[in-house]
Amino acid sequence: MPFKLSIYPWVHCCRCNDNQWKGEFIEHEHCSPEEEARLGAEDDLLTRRNHIPGVPMVNFTSQYGLGCFEGLKAYPQKDGTLKLFRPERNCARMAVSMRGLRMPPIPEDLLLETIFEIVRRNKVLGFAPEYDAAWEKDIWQNAATVYVRPFAISEPGIGVNLSVTPWVITICTTVSAYFRLGENNAVVSKRIRATPGGTGWIKTAANYVTSTLAKAEALDEGYMEAIFLDCTTGKNIEEGSSCNFFAVLKDGTVVTPELHDTILPGITRDSVMVLARDMGMKTQERDLSLEEVFDDASECFVTGTAAGVTPLSSITREGKTKRFASLEADSVSNRFLKQLKGIQFGALSDKHGWMRDV
Ligand SMILES: *Cc1c(COP(=O)(O)O)cnc(C)c1O
Repeated sequence: MPFKLSIYPWVHCCRCNDNQWKGEFIEHEHCSPEEEARLGAEDDLLTRRNHIPGVPMVNFTSQYGLGCFEGLKAYPQKDGTLKLFRPERNCARMAVSMRGLRMPPIPEDLLLETIFEIVRRNKVLGFAPEYDAAWEKDIWQNAATVYVRPFAISEPGIGVNLSVTPWVITICTTVSAYFRLGENNAVVSKRIRATPGGTGWIKTAANYVTSTLAKAEALDEGYMEAIFLDCTTGKNIEEGSSCNFFAVLKDGTVVTPELHDTILPGITRDSVMVLARDMGMKTQERDLSLEEVFDDASECFVTGTAAGVTPLSSITREGKTKRFASLEADSVSNRFLKQLKGIQFGALSDKHGWMRDV
């Protein structure tokens, strides 16, 4: 079944003019969440909601990829509330991405307040999944969450140009599992996701062209995920298709590629490093070659808001496949998965204060 894009009724739209951000919450037409669940993907009501009057179609974002976005989730809790995971990090990164595109950045506190309010308003209308104890059976890998997507769009224009008066629009929708459970085989892509001096370090739309193509090629060849190597040496692992990469070495060390301008600083990546240290594991952020992973890793996994912690069962390069123990019940990867989801869904104590009440 094709994914039905069902944007929640309340959206927030703000725009920068003369360094002043002015915005409003807009309540779009809707029926009850139950009635809407029965609508088709192309239904008029849902189509109208994917539209904000006054925002131009021809702009530097739609024409030239000069846009950026964030993605974060509010997690349903047993007591019926929702909690956002480290939302201030997303707000900070949105400002970094906008500056990286030489747009005036949206103030972090304005975006943060918007994110809380948009989730609250939609929940009041019944748009938010309810906690389901059945999710616990497979470590919440099939759980539904509220996905919040703020994104920047430029002013109208067709000449190639920077954006001086961008909009930032914030929408929500329900999402469930991104990767299917079980076997997750990866293949090394021949493509280059990001180059030194490029935009790999910000969450710009433009970066997704190459990773979407690589992922599609991986799926064509029967793999679930694409892995990118660096373009300078062609040896070091950088990222998955839109997620950060981790290896667990045979001696138990947890390694992830060091941040530089071709790697996106994932919030899940940062959180997993904190959890690893909490669990007394040795961690390293450094160059990590594919060869080392083939020779010396017992497990590997990818991380991201969408991917969560996704253990990889194997990596293939030029027909040579290396299998990993990442999917075994007692794997280190599964420990991270349980820790992270446990904190997000309120089953484990949130000792770092990552969860924010909506
Ligand atoms: C968003 C993203 C990630 C994951 O970041 P999180 O903050 O963990 O969601 C990783 N890599 C790329 C390229 C991304 O765009």
